[in-house]
Amino acid sequence: MEERELKVVLLSHTPRPLDVIYAACRQCYSHHSAIDILDADVSLEKKETLVKKVIDSGHESPLEHVSFTFAVEGISRACSHQLVRHRLASYSQQSQRYVELDNLPFVMPPSIKANEKARKRFLKIISELEASYKDLIDLLSSQNSQEDSRKYLEDARYILPNACETRIVITMNARELLHFFGVRCCTRAQWEIRRLSEEMLSLVRSVLPIIFDRAGAKCERLGYCPEGSFSCGRYPLKEEVLRRNV
Ligand SMILES: Cc1cc2nc3c(=O)[nH]c(=O)nc-3n(C[C@H](O)[C@H](O)[C@H](O)COP(=O)(O)OP(=O)(O)OC[C@H]3O[C@@H](n4cnc5c(N)ncnc54)[C@H](O)[C@@H]3O)c2cc1C
Repeated sequence: MEERELKVVLLSHTPRPLDVIYAACRQCYSHHSAIDILDADVSLEKKETLVKKVIDSGHESPLEHVSFTFAVEGISRACSHQLVRHRLASYSQQSQRYVELDNLPFVMPPSIKANEKARKRFLKIISELEASYKDLIDLLSSQNSQEDSRKYLEDARYILPNACETRIVITMNARELLHFFGVRCCTRAQWEIRRLSEEMLSLVRSVLPIIFDRAGAKCERLGYCPEGSFSCGRYPLKEEVLRRNV
């Protein structure tokens, strides 16, 4: 068994992302075509000003023309299960049906790592599960014919824990990323997906600062917290802001 750490790499993104968003925004409000706008001699400042104005007005569809692809390693299955609930994205995840987990790779939550007794208990269980996983593979593989040579993996994996490490490639467009950061960078989100979303945010921020500089938990864009009694207190509650404005 082997503990794994989070690793996030931005594999690729739509070329000239600001130009593409600008061309989409500009075409909406002019007689010019996006084809001409894309290569027109327009200053960075002018592009950023228009894009910011359009997006701040709530017209977010131009953001859908720009996508980002990330390779993620060192996340648990507990985390990937939450991740793939975000439907406006594409995923390719390492299969437990086809890939045998050698040295059972796992992710350990910081709270367990910081508690010596809990840490030992956790490692003992992972070690026992790893041994049982291998036993099941041995028991089932002897029953299978050559054609079904990997079939036993899909049943042996039933005993694998949520802590199991997984690898996944994610593609999201910029609009979905803003939504994803809104809910997953929030202190209400579970620690691991929050850590993942913060890593993803720092990567896209360096590519497209005009869109992602103010991105993060939804309070960052709203200026208030809509979480009521779950609020972390960093921003005033929505109700307080409404009361102040009456
Ligand atoms: C703190 C927290 C706690 C959670 N707890 C639970 C829980 O206890 N149980 C649980 O099951 N889930 C839970 N979730 C998951 C949550 O309910 C969502 O499934 C997840 O956050 C995906 O977000 P989404 O549906 O907004 O967005 P995405 O799938 O990323 O879609 C983005 C947006 O597109 C629109 N959209 C997408 N699909 C549809 C559709 N079919 N119809 C209409 N509009 C659509 C919506 O506006 C949506 O917000 C939790 C999430 C968080 C952040």
